[in-house]
Amino acid sequence: MQVHEFIKKSRWGESFSWEELVAMLSYAPASPEAYALLAEARRLSEEVTGGKAEIHGQFALDLAPCTRNCLWCSFAEHNKIFKEGWQISAEEAVSLAVRFEREGANAVLTMTTADYPLQKMLEMAREIRRHIRPETLLIANTGDKTLAQAEKMKDAGFNGVYHALRLDEGRRNRIHPEKRLESIRSFQEAGLWVGTCVEPIGPEHTNEELAHLILFTAGIHPAFSGAARRIPIPHTELAKYGMISELRMAQIVAVTRLAMPRSTRGNCTHEPCTLGAMAGATLFWAEVGANPRDDQEKTENNRGKDLGMCRELFTEAGWEILEGPSQHFTQAPEPKAPGEITPALAQ
Ligand code: SF4
Repeated sequence: MQVHEFIKKSRWGESFSWEELVAMLSYAPASPEAYALLAEARRLSEEVTGGKAEIHGQFALDLAPCTRNCLWCSFAEHNKIFKEGWQISAEEAVSLAVRFEREGANAVLTMTTADYPLQKMLEMAREIRRHIRPETLLIANTGDKTLAQAEKMKDAGFNGVYHALRLDEGRRNRIHPEKRLESIRSFQEAGLWVGTCVEPIGPEHTNEELAHLILFTAGIHPAFSGAARRIPIPHTELAKYGMISELRMAQIVAVTRLAMPRSTRGNCTHEPCTLGAMAGATLFWAEVGANPRDDQEKTENNRGKDLGMCRELFTEAGWEILEGPSQHFTQAPEPKAPGEITPALAQ
């Protein structure tokens, strides 16, 4: 199939097969064909969002050496980056949430490592909820949860979660892929929105693997999907593989947008960059505190971008930025047909 046929299919709102996604991912990132896909993904993103990009503000509730040992993560115990941990107080959490809200974040996210106690997270959510506007969306980026736990999160005031079946799940960490899917089902059944992403992409990942994961994310009907590259953490096992270019990441961001159902409005990329925005990314995260891609405890002093920087990147790529609560989460979430873990994604 030629690139103009892919574009025609996208304009007709048809879905793409695994083989077609592999073909789109196989174009050289700087080829006219890849650029044509970037342009179509951008057009589609503008269509489904009304031309408004979003910035969500994420802060960490804790930093801890984490026993799940995802080799790409600076918190992994195995990587020996952080020997000691810390947790922020409820007052600090409220102050960060209110600051993000005041600065215009379209949603506020709390991030925790996998072993952070649920009870504590619920207390934090209730406290934050008491201080932010009722319409502000509160999203959790946290470990796997059962349905009963997800329901408690909903009751405590969360509107949604960021949750992903990552590349190499079960191979380069201690989390079984099925566990991720079970959690996604639980969150959706509890009435929480799920946003996700194809991540963390390294140079060694094949187009075939990426296409499988893109289709998985489409299958869960997320609030947003997207693509993010793996950031090499110095002195860790995966650092030797290096990093894909921003242009290659932009290509994967574009193909992911084209593969999502129209009901999925958001298309994220991380870390924020103009090429991603040019290719149809509509969601960046500003970050404060601990960050799994950073070897510094306060990412705002190193890799993390603030809202102003994210705004500037979107503006440079010609996007307007939404004012008010995120519109990636617009209808009441319903339990969705679950995506499938194909053998290529299984442990
Ligand atoms: S990515 Fe999450 S689960 Fe994995 S090691 Fe880091 S904090 Fe733990």
